[in-house]
Formats: sequence, structure tokens, C-alpha cells
Amino acid sequence: MKKAMKNREVISCIVVRHQIYAGTCGIDGHAYILSKNDVDGDTRGAKACAPRLWENAAEAQKWINEREGEIYVTRSGEAGRPDYWIVPEYAAAVLQSRSDDGSLYDWPEAIDGCDDGACGQCDACVEWMADQDDEYLKSVQIKEIER
Ligand SMILES: [Zn+2]
Repeated sequence: MKKAMKNREVISCIVVRHQIYAGTCGIDGHAYILSKNDVDGDTRGAKACAPRLWENAAEAQKWINEREGEIYVTRSGEAGRPDYWIVPEYAAAVLQSRSDDGSLYDWPEAIDGCDDGACGQCDACVEWMADQDDEYLKSVQIKEIER
């Protein structure tokens, strides 16, 4: 109960991860944070890319519940409804920092599929970074929410 109370005070954003069939191209199976444009159709300049924030995790959960009560039309290559994860607002800042400065990732000596160890720029490295972001978002996911 105490934890749920604490969660309610956290300003949250929602992560979407699409369920895709293996080998699908054209749709990304990586997690992403919903933007104002995604939710509100706010397409005005840089604001459109800013994370859409909810006052707390319970409000975010309410939005998810509404989506899950609607008919969902899968896109080409999509295997079902997306997963929705609620994460604290700071997660968006962490992802933005990593995007601005790739050295913030905890790079191994070598990335599978990279011809140059871990160049940080080839497809294999970009995929590795996206996987790291998925793992990070999953690790900070807020799970205990009063419905
Ligand atoms: Zn590389």
C-alpha cells in the first residue's frame, strides 16, 4: 500500500512496445516513450517529440485501460496489442542523454555483428543501443498501481 501511494506521486510517461512477428521489417519492435504527438496529435515543432506526461502512474494506467478497452487494429507485421509500460518521467531524460551522448552506454569490448569492435554507428551497434534502452525502460517500469 505504501509503495502504491508513493507511485501515485511520480509523474509518469508511458512506453509502448509493439509485438512483432520474428523477421518482420518495416515495424520496430523496440520500446519507445509516447510523445505528445502520439497521444494528443500535437505536431507543433519540437514540442511534438516531448514525452507525453501523466500526473501520476494511476492516471497513466487509466489511459492504458481505456486503450485496452478499445478495438485494436494491428499493423502489417504486428502480432497483437502492444505492451504498455509506465515509467517515471526521469526515464525520458536518461534516454535523451544517451541519445545525445552515446558514450553514456556501458559499451562492451565488442558488439556481435560490428566490424569495428563497438563503433557505435553501424546497424549492429544501433540495434544494441536500442536493446539497452528497452532493458533500461523495463528495469524502471512502475508495476504496482492501484486500478
Ligand atoms: Zn558498430
